[in-house]
Amino acid sequence: MSEGRILLKGGTVVTMDPELGDIPNGDVLIGNGRIEQVAAGIEAPDAEVVDASGTLVIPGLIDTHLHMWQHPIRGLGAGLWGLEDYVTKVFPVRERFGPRDMHDATYTCAVEALANGTTTVLDFCHNILTHEHAEESLRAHRSTGQRVLFAYGMLGYEDRLAAERQSRLAHVSALHEELGSDPAALVRLGMAVTTLTYASIDEVRAEVEHARGLGLPMSIHQNVAGEITRLHEAGLLGADLLPVHSNNATDTELGLLAGCGCAISFTTEGEWGGGRPMSVVGRADRAGVLPTLGVDVPSRVAVDMLSQLRITFNIMRAAEAQAERDQGRWPLRRHGDTPYATPRRVLEYATVNGAKAVGLGDHLGTLTPGKQADVVVLRTGPFGVAVGDPAAHVVLQSTVGDIDAVLVAGRFRKRDGRLVDVDTGRLSSLVAGVRERVGVS
Ligand SMILES: [Zn+2]
Repeated sequence: MSEGRILLKGGTVVTMDPELGDIPNGDVLIGNGRIEQVAAGIEAPDAEVVDASGTLVIPGLIDTHLHMWQHPIRGLGAGLWGLEDYVTKVFPVRERFGPRDMHDATYTCAVEALANGTTTVLDFCHNILTHEHAEESLRAHRSTGQRVLFAYGMLGYEDRLAAERQSRLAHVSALHEELGSDPAALVRLGMAVTTLTYASIDEVRAEVEHARGLGLPMSIHQNVAGEITRLHEAGLLGADLLPVHSNNATDTELGLLAGCGCAISFTTEGEWGGGRPMSVVGRADRAGVLPTLGVDVPSRVAVDMLSQLRITFNIMRAAEAQAERDQGRWPLRRHGDTPYATPRRVLEYATVNGAKAVGLGDHLGTLTPGKQADVVVLRTGPFGVAVGDPAAHVVLQSTVGDIDAVLVAGRFRKRDGRLVDVDTGRLSSLVAGVRERVGVS
């Protein structure tokens, strides 16, 4: 559908495109859902001019690992201590989710994510009890205006999975037929492959080969040491398979991933709070793997990528400082490429790298003419843009309260701080309804 042209005028434009760089007092011209031009002083008489002075204009944020069905049970995972808590507290509830709950949960999660600047999400949907669960989740996605890679969950309910695998794969094929493979489509299909912890390598291979045959991007939970090596030995690694967590990956395994052009989804807040080794983020980046970021579990973590950016920067700095201390280099001094983590590098994780990880590196992640117009506009408040790198303002100074506008494919999903086309009064009753039906009210 052809939209009117929009000219965002006079913001500090952080394009994340290495050639375009940052443009103080810059303009972004949007037409037909795409970015037409990025420069200072653009004239476009037919465009609607939107005053962006006093703001930072950045590419839309990309969350590469989110279990959206958990949104109504936020808080249930607060204070969990290890996997055993997760299994005993969250698992029994997930099995009570029906198709309607999947719809309502996905919808409210998408609305919150959009409001908080997440324009694209990889919905790692690992609660597909029936085909209808998947259909209802997709129905919600079609109504939100958010860009999504819906990763159809093969995992979960391991006792039933072997018997159901063929039926699930057939459903994936049918949905692929329906959704097609237009990279610019807002709703795309992918696959959440079964975790190796719960399945044999041959079972995982069957899923990966099915998805590859359809050209679908995939993601896989990767918690146990040695699994990257196993995937490599089975010939299953590839840029279309996104591992999640990988906190125990060795440098050799990171080299294998880098050799395939792979990304990793780090869900740093959940991983760090769960006691995982966090040096992997910096090691992965240095090895040439593309780090990306995800919220993972709304039952525990706020659906807020700006927080993830700030937490990740500080986690990386803490890991680097610890390594220096371990080497007897204290107090801290700069040497070589240490410190490695910078706010701009971390902002790349949630933009440039995230786009590549969901198979849309040519379409998203930077404010480059020709790319999809997924844009976030952040107010800088009465004190203006911080001194120095404006990406540092985004990562270290901004909160979701600063988000003035969010556009996906050139359409405002949030404008002047308010959601567009969303009945916000209905959201709390949707959440309450799910809680009541699944017994956590
Ligand atoms: Zn997860």
